[in-house]
Amino acid sequence: MATINRDHAKLICDIGELSAIITDASDLDAMLQKIVDTAAGHMEADVCSVYLFDEARQELVLRATRGLLPSSVGNVRLRAGEGLTGLAFSERRPICEADAPSHPAYRYFPGIGEEIYRSFVAVPILRGRRPVGAMTLQSKQSGHFSTEDVQVFRAITMQLATTIEMARLLLTLQVDPTSITPSPALPDLRFVRGQVGSEGCALGEVVRIRQPSLAEIRALIGSAALDLPDLRRAVAATEEQLEHLEELAGERLSDVTAVIFSAQLMMLRDQSWLGAMEEQIAAETPTAEAVYRVILNYVELFDRMDNAYMREKRYDVMDVGRRLLANLSGHRDAESRLEGRIAIAAELLPSEVLKLGLEKVGGIVLLSGGVTSHVAVLARSLDLPLIFVDEPRLLEIPDGTRVVLDARQGNLFVSPSEEVEQRFREQEENRRSAPQLAEGMREETRTADSTRVYLLANINLLADIEVARSYKAEGIGLYRTEFPFLIRNDLPSEEEQLRIYRRLVEGMPGREVTFRTLDVGGDKVLSYFDYAAEANPFLGLRSIRFSLRHRDVFLQQVRAILRAAHDIKVRIMFPMISSPDELANAADAVNECRASLRLQGMPACEHVQLGMMLEVPSALEVMDELARHAEFFSIGTNDFVQYMLAVDRTNVNVADLYLPHHPAVLRGLHRAITAALRHGRDVSVCGDMAHDPRFVRFLLGIGVRKFSMSARYLPRVQEAIFATRLDEAQVFAQRLLAEGSVVGTTRILEGG
Ligand code: PEP
Ligand code: MG
Repeated sequence: MATINRDHAKLICDIGELSAIITDASDLDAMLQKIVDTAAGHMEADVCSVYLFDEARQELVLRATRGLLPSSVGNVRLRAGEGLTGLAFSERRPICEADAPSHPAYRYFPGIGEEIYRSFVAVPILRGRRPVGAMTLQSKQSGHFSTEDVQVFRAITMQLATTIEMARLLLTLQVDPTSITPSPALPDLRFVRGQVGSEGCALGEVVRIRQPSLAEIRALIGSAALDLPDLRRAVAATEEQLEHLEELAGERLSDVTAVIFSAQLMMLRDQSWLGAMEEQIAAETPTAEAVYRVILNYVELFDRMDNAYMREKRYDVMDVGRRLLANLSGHRDAESRLEGRIAIAAELLPSEVLKLGLEKVGGIVLLSGGVTSHVAVLARSLDLPLIFVDEPRLLEIPDGTRVVLDARQGNLFVSPSEEVEQRFREQEENRRSAPQLAEGMREETRTADSTRVYLLANINLLADIEVARSYKAEGIGLYRTEFPFLIRNDLPSEEEQLRIYRRLVEGMPGREVTFRTLDVGGDKVLSYFDYAAEANPFLGLRSIRFSLRHRDVFLQQVRAILRAAHDIKVRIMFPMISSPDELANAADAVNECRASLRLQGMPACEHVQLGMMLEVPSALEVMDELARHAEFFSIGTNDFVQYMLAVDRTNVNVADLYLPHHPAVLRGLHRAITAALRHGRDVSVCGDMAHDPRFVRFLLGIGVRKFSMSARYLPRVQEAIFATRLDEAQVFAQRLLAEGSVVGTTRILEGG
């Protein structure tokens, strides 16, 4: 039996090779052909074929092959469950047969040259849990493929799944025309006060980010005489810009951007798309109009798709379309449109925030969301100043208006006077010349009377690790694993997750690393995942509830964590646990993964500590039972405050009621920490209260010795701890706990 060379197989899992497949291919058919050629080569197979599922006809269609007759492409069609390929697809499992023709489910297709092949492997192509096609291998030699080969082929297929699915979507679309309408206005606004989401300052011109704005760009082009060479030039410029963005995202943000730009490039290079534009131009449609119609038509086609994942593609089409039209207009360089500007938007998706960061916007003003929302959390990781305001008229400010965004105080100055601008510049100058805070950080943190305290970092993007190291974080107290899930267009595979998690583990050698399992739902919606719309998403299928409901997604993640941490002692914690039963269910999933990895002989972590986040008030009542199962606790104060006070953490309307210093919150924290310590459990605080200097004394006073926060806050918290005596902190905490009103706790915290 010929076991293939695993080193070679590893190569294809390399993102470099994956993007080469996309970049080098001239169109989708060529790309699929390249995929089967590459996979056949790696797997030393006589035949490699890819079948994609045609939703309209509910059939698997052969889309590319190396080895079978080329004329079979497009003509071999199977129903789900039909033949060995259909079976692998419908049962979502690999099938490996030493002598396929003797299998009862084998389906013979005359005239495609298949009769000479004996051994056969079929693996489903899965997007998340949904099968979207299948890949097959065949060899003349019977018994040619080993179990290990199947595993490697599966891994290769997983790697290629996103690319293949993208190709599948594009192949199923056709084109046809439509139209839309524009309009802006100008009011009189000078100063707006908001809430700080991510600290920083910026001075620049406004750019409003709104969907859809294709029609406006279309209007800019007007009736300019443009021709086919202009379109080709615009395509080339767009391609160059996207490649540049991909390169910028490159290593630094590869955990979250790996597929955003490659998907867009693939669209841009799709021959049927450009072909449709060229056809319309040939039929005398003005060039800009032709481009506009084709883009719009694609947007609408995706809009009409009945599954969320496909609908989600509309944003990519919009993005590419806008860029292409802007380049075609030559009116304004699409690339410099955002750099240094202050983006104003009604709302933004995490992926949009990321793109704005890459395109170097100076700052962001958002009309929805709250300071603990995840868009804010992401902006902090990207070091992008961000404020939330409740002033819809801001959306009417014309692009190009100058503003000063002071995201330290939460102020926005519209068309500022020369004096305001000058003051702002001076402040920034002083700040830049201030000593670098990271340099003053000490290795160990102690209170004024020498009690040891541990300061760790919260990590959202892998890029945060470097910052955490520079601020001397003693480990990772919270890795929010959901960002790679949120920012891409589909679920990352186990292998993709493994690669990301491995970089996290390697980024903090010898230090404590705590993974939090997927925390989606609430304001972190997986837009590509089909779930029912919820009236109250924060009380819905969020967090651990999502993971337990979609156990296959959960198991894939836990397997990836255990594999990434195979040579270290790792901590895994579950978010939003509300009962010991839920905790036990989650822990079972981890045990199941360990057992299956062991069975498969895959290296996996032997020393796992399982813990939970304390975020739901019900946990307070069952702390003793929870402490029996949880080896550690981490308090997520962002959610703890939200659920304790029934105040949506992302709702600007009730932001004034979101009170971390509410007596119920303070007493709840005290109870939780006391119970955890009574059971000898490690306990930390990882929500925003951990970095708020107002609460450092209180938290120390009730027994917290471990704080985890965005690394940029570490210096000021360390400084506050060094300035605090433990006995004084305890007295202070007692005073706060004795106070039963918000007015009272406010007074004490303000030094009264
Ligand atoms: C929290 O709720 O405090 C927390 C740290 O988790 P997240 O902000 O990601 O919900
Ligand atoms: Mg939380």
